[in-house]
Amino acid sequence: FEVFPPKKWEDFPGLYETLDELKGLHPEFISCTYGAGGSNSKKTAEIASHIENELGIRSIAHLTCAALTEDKLLSTIENFKNAGIHSVLALRGDKPFDMSEEDFANRQYKHPSEIIPILKKAGFRVAAACYPEKHEESPNAEQDLLWLKRKVETGADYAVTQLFYDNNRYFSFVKRAREAGITVPIIPGIKPFSKLSQLTMVPKTFKVDLPDELAREALKCKTDEEARALGTEWCIHQCRELMAGGVPSLHFSTGG
Ligand code: FAD
Repeated sequence: FEVFPPKKWEDFPGLYETLDELKGLHPEFISCTYGAGGSNSKKTAEIASHIENELGIRSIAHLTCAALTEDKLLSTIENFKNAGIHSVLALRGDKPFDMSEEDFANRQYKHPSEIIPILKKAGFRVAAACYPEKHEESPNAEQDLLWLKRKVETGADYAVTQLFYDNNRYFSFVKRAREAGITVPIIPGIKPFSKLSQLTMVPKTFKVDLPDELAREALKCKTDEEARALGTEWCIHQCRELMAGGVPSLHFSTGG
């Protein structure tokens, strides 16, 4: 599962209740997101530590490098280690709202492949993100795969995909990755729709397509309940097919 830090510290107990429920499902791991600008890095460490040390489940702390300086990276590594965290998902992150275009262009770490060796040296197991439907900034799918390859060559132990709704996109991506010599496990990202607005928002936000069958059914939904029922049904169908296809694990986004 993937969880994200609440905006307010007062909302932590609610998240911890949810985590207790998720524990009952015996997940292999629970990851916690990290703000693009690093503003909630303490919250990420706190939650990942809770997952690891209080719940006894492997946690993965996300870490974005768009706004990282060397000092901030080293202090975050220290915080993560002190919190008993062993695994990190190394990301670039998008430009933080409060960062100028110029500062973003001149950022210290241009790509996650520059922080992956540092994280590996510090003793973390490291994951990287990948995009079955290609990252929006990439000119084409081949180039996109080369950037994943670079992350693996610099030490990523496995990859976690962007969410998708069309399993064919995942299976063909994995095939192309294998042909390109990328041998690490590639964990599929899943996000079941839970309300009506997500049927249009999620594909737009994450730049992913809905397969025709799902898009047709989505058009018929008029209420949150209908959208949620469709989302759950599609999610089950997707997961069954992915598991039959031999995926290493399933990574569910729990947000909203
Ligand atoms: P990269 O690997 O740098 O880039 C992604 C793509 O951009 C590459 O595949 C490539 O196609 C292209 N690219 C990169 N560099 C170049 C270059 N020099 N020239 C040409 N093309 C290039 N964001 C958060 O803020 N916090 C999170 O916790 C978070 N968790 C995520 C978890 C997962 C599983 C995924 C898939 C994404 C997550 N994101 C998160 C979003 C992520 O930060 C954005 O998608 C970001 O735009 C790219 O990050 P990346 O690490 O994939 O970057």
